[in-house]
Amino acid sequence: MKPVKIVFDKSYETDYRTASCEVPGRVSSIMDTLSPLYETEAPQPCSEDDILLCHSEGLLIVEKNDRSRYDVARMAAGGAIMAARLAIEGTLSFAVVRPPGHHANPDHNWGFCFFNNMGIAVRKILSEKLIHKAVILDIDLHFGDGTDAIFHYDDAVRVLNIQSSTRREFIQETRSALKDAGSADILGISAGFDQYELDWGANLTTGDYHEIGVIAGTYARDFCSGRVFILLEGGYYLPDLGANALSLLTGVAEGVDGK
Ligand SMILES: [Zn+2]
Repeated sequence: MKPVKIVFDKSYETDYRTASCEVPGRVSSIMDTLSPLYETEAPQPCSEDDILLCHSEGLLIVEKNDRSRYDVARMAAGGAIMAARLAIEGTLSFAVVRPPGHHANPDHNWGFCFFNNMGIAVRKILSEKLIHKAVILDIDLHFGDGTDAIFHYDDAVRVLNIQSSTRREFIQETRSALKDAGSADILGISAGFDQYELDWGANLTTGDYHEIGVIAGTYARDFCSGRVFILLEGGYYLPDLGANALSLLTGVAEGVDGK
């Protein structure tokens, strides 16, 4: 069985300046569910050079003006880098980070995102030649425009945004997108839970996250040497966030273990 690790830092629970729905309780509720079950490791913040792997100097300067939020955003990207490295070392990892990242474009950001955690993590391990090719699966309700923009002209990274509005279509589209993705050295999952039936998307069930996880984990086992990591993006229905996160994670673990 592949080992599983959660990447988390207490700073993710900071009440920094952002939209009122993007609350510290998002990560607290997930950790209430996951921390009794899995080992947790705390990351280091990413460096300025890491941020510049994906973002303009102008965006970096703007974000530095809000020091407390900047520090947390750097820790979130650092958590993403740690999760990617753990995956390379053979551990299935889930970075339960705030702020999210997939709406952070090279030179602008929106949607409660400041730096693109997934983009920075993948660019970092590419720059270190730990991998040569990556696939990113984004299952958030919203199109991950930032991640798409960062890798749009990068042949080393394939970004798959799943955008179907019915349950069966969403799962089918996930399956066919990964089937067409070919092999890679790692799979990164941008895990938004706002497609949940009681969240904004009013679509997927807790069980569906498990099924999506099995599909993604099986793909990682067969085409990415079993290397897979998960990063938290959206998800705003606090009572079931932990259950949905656990459902996805256990699904990925089952898929990657070939159960
Ligand atoms: Zn979203």
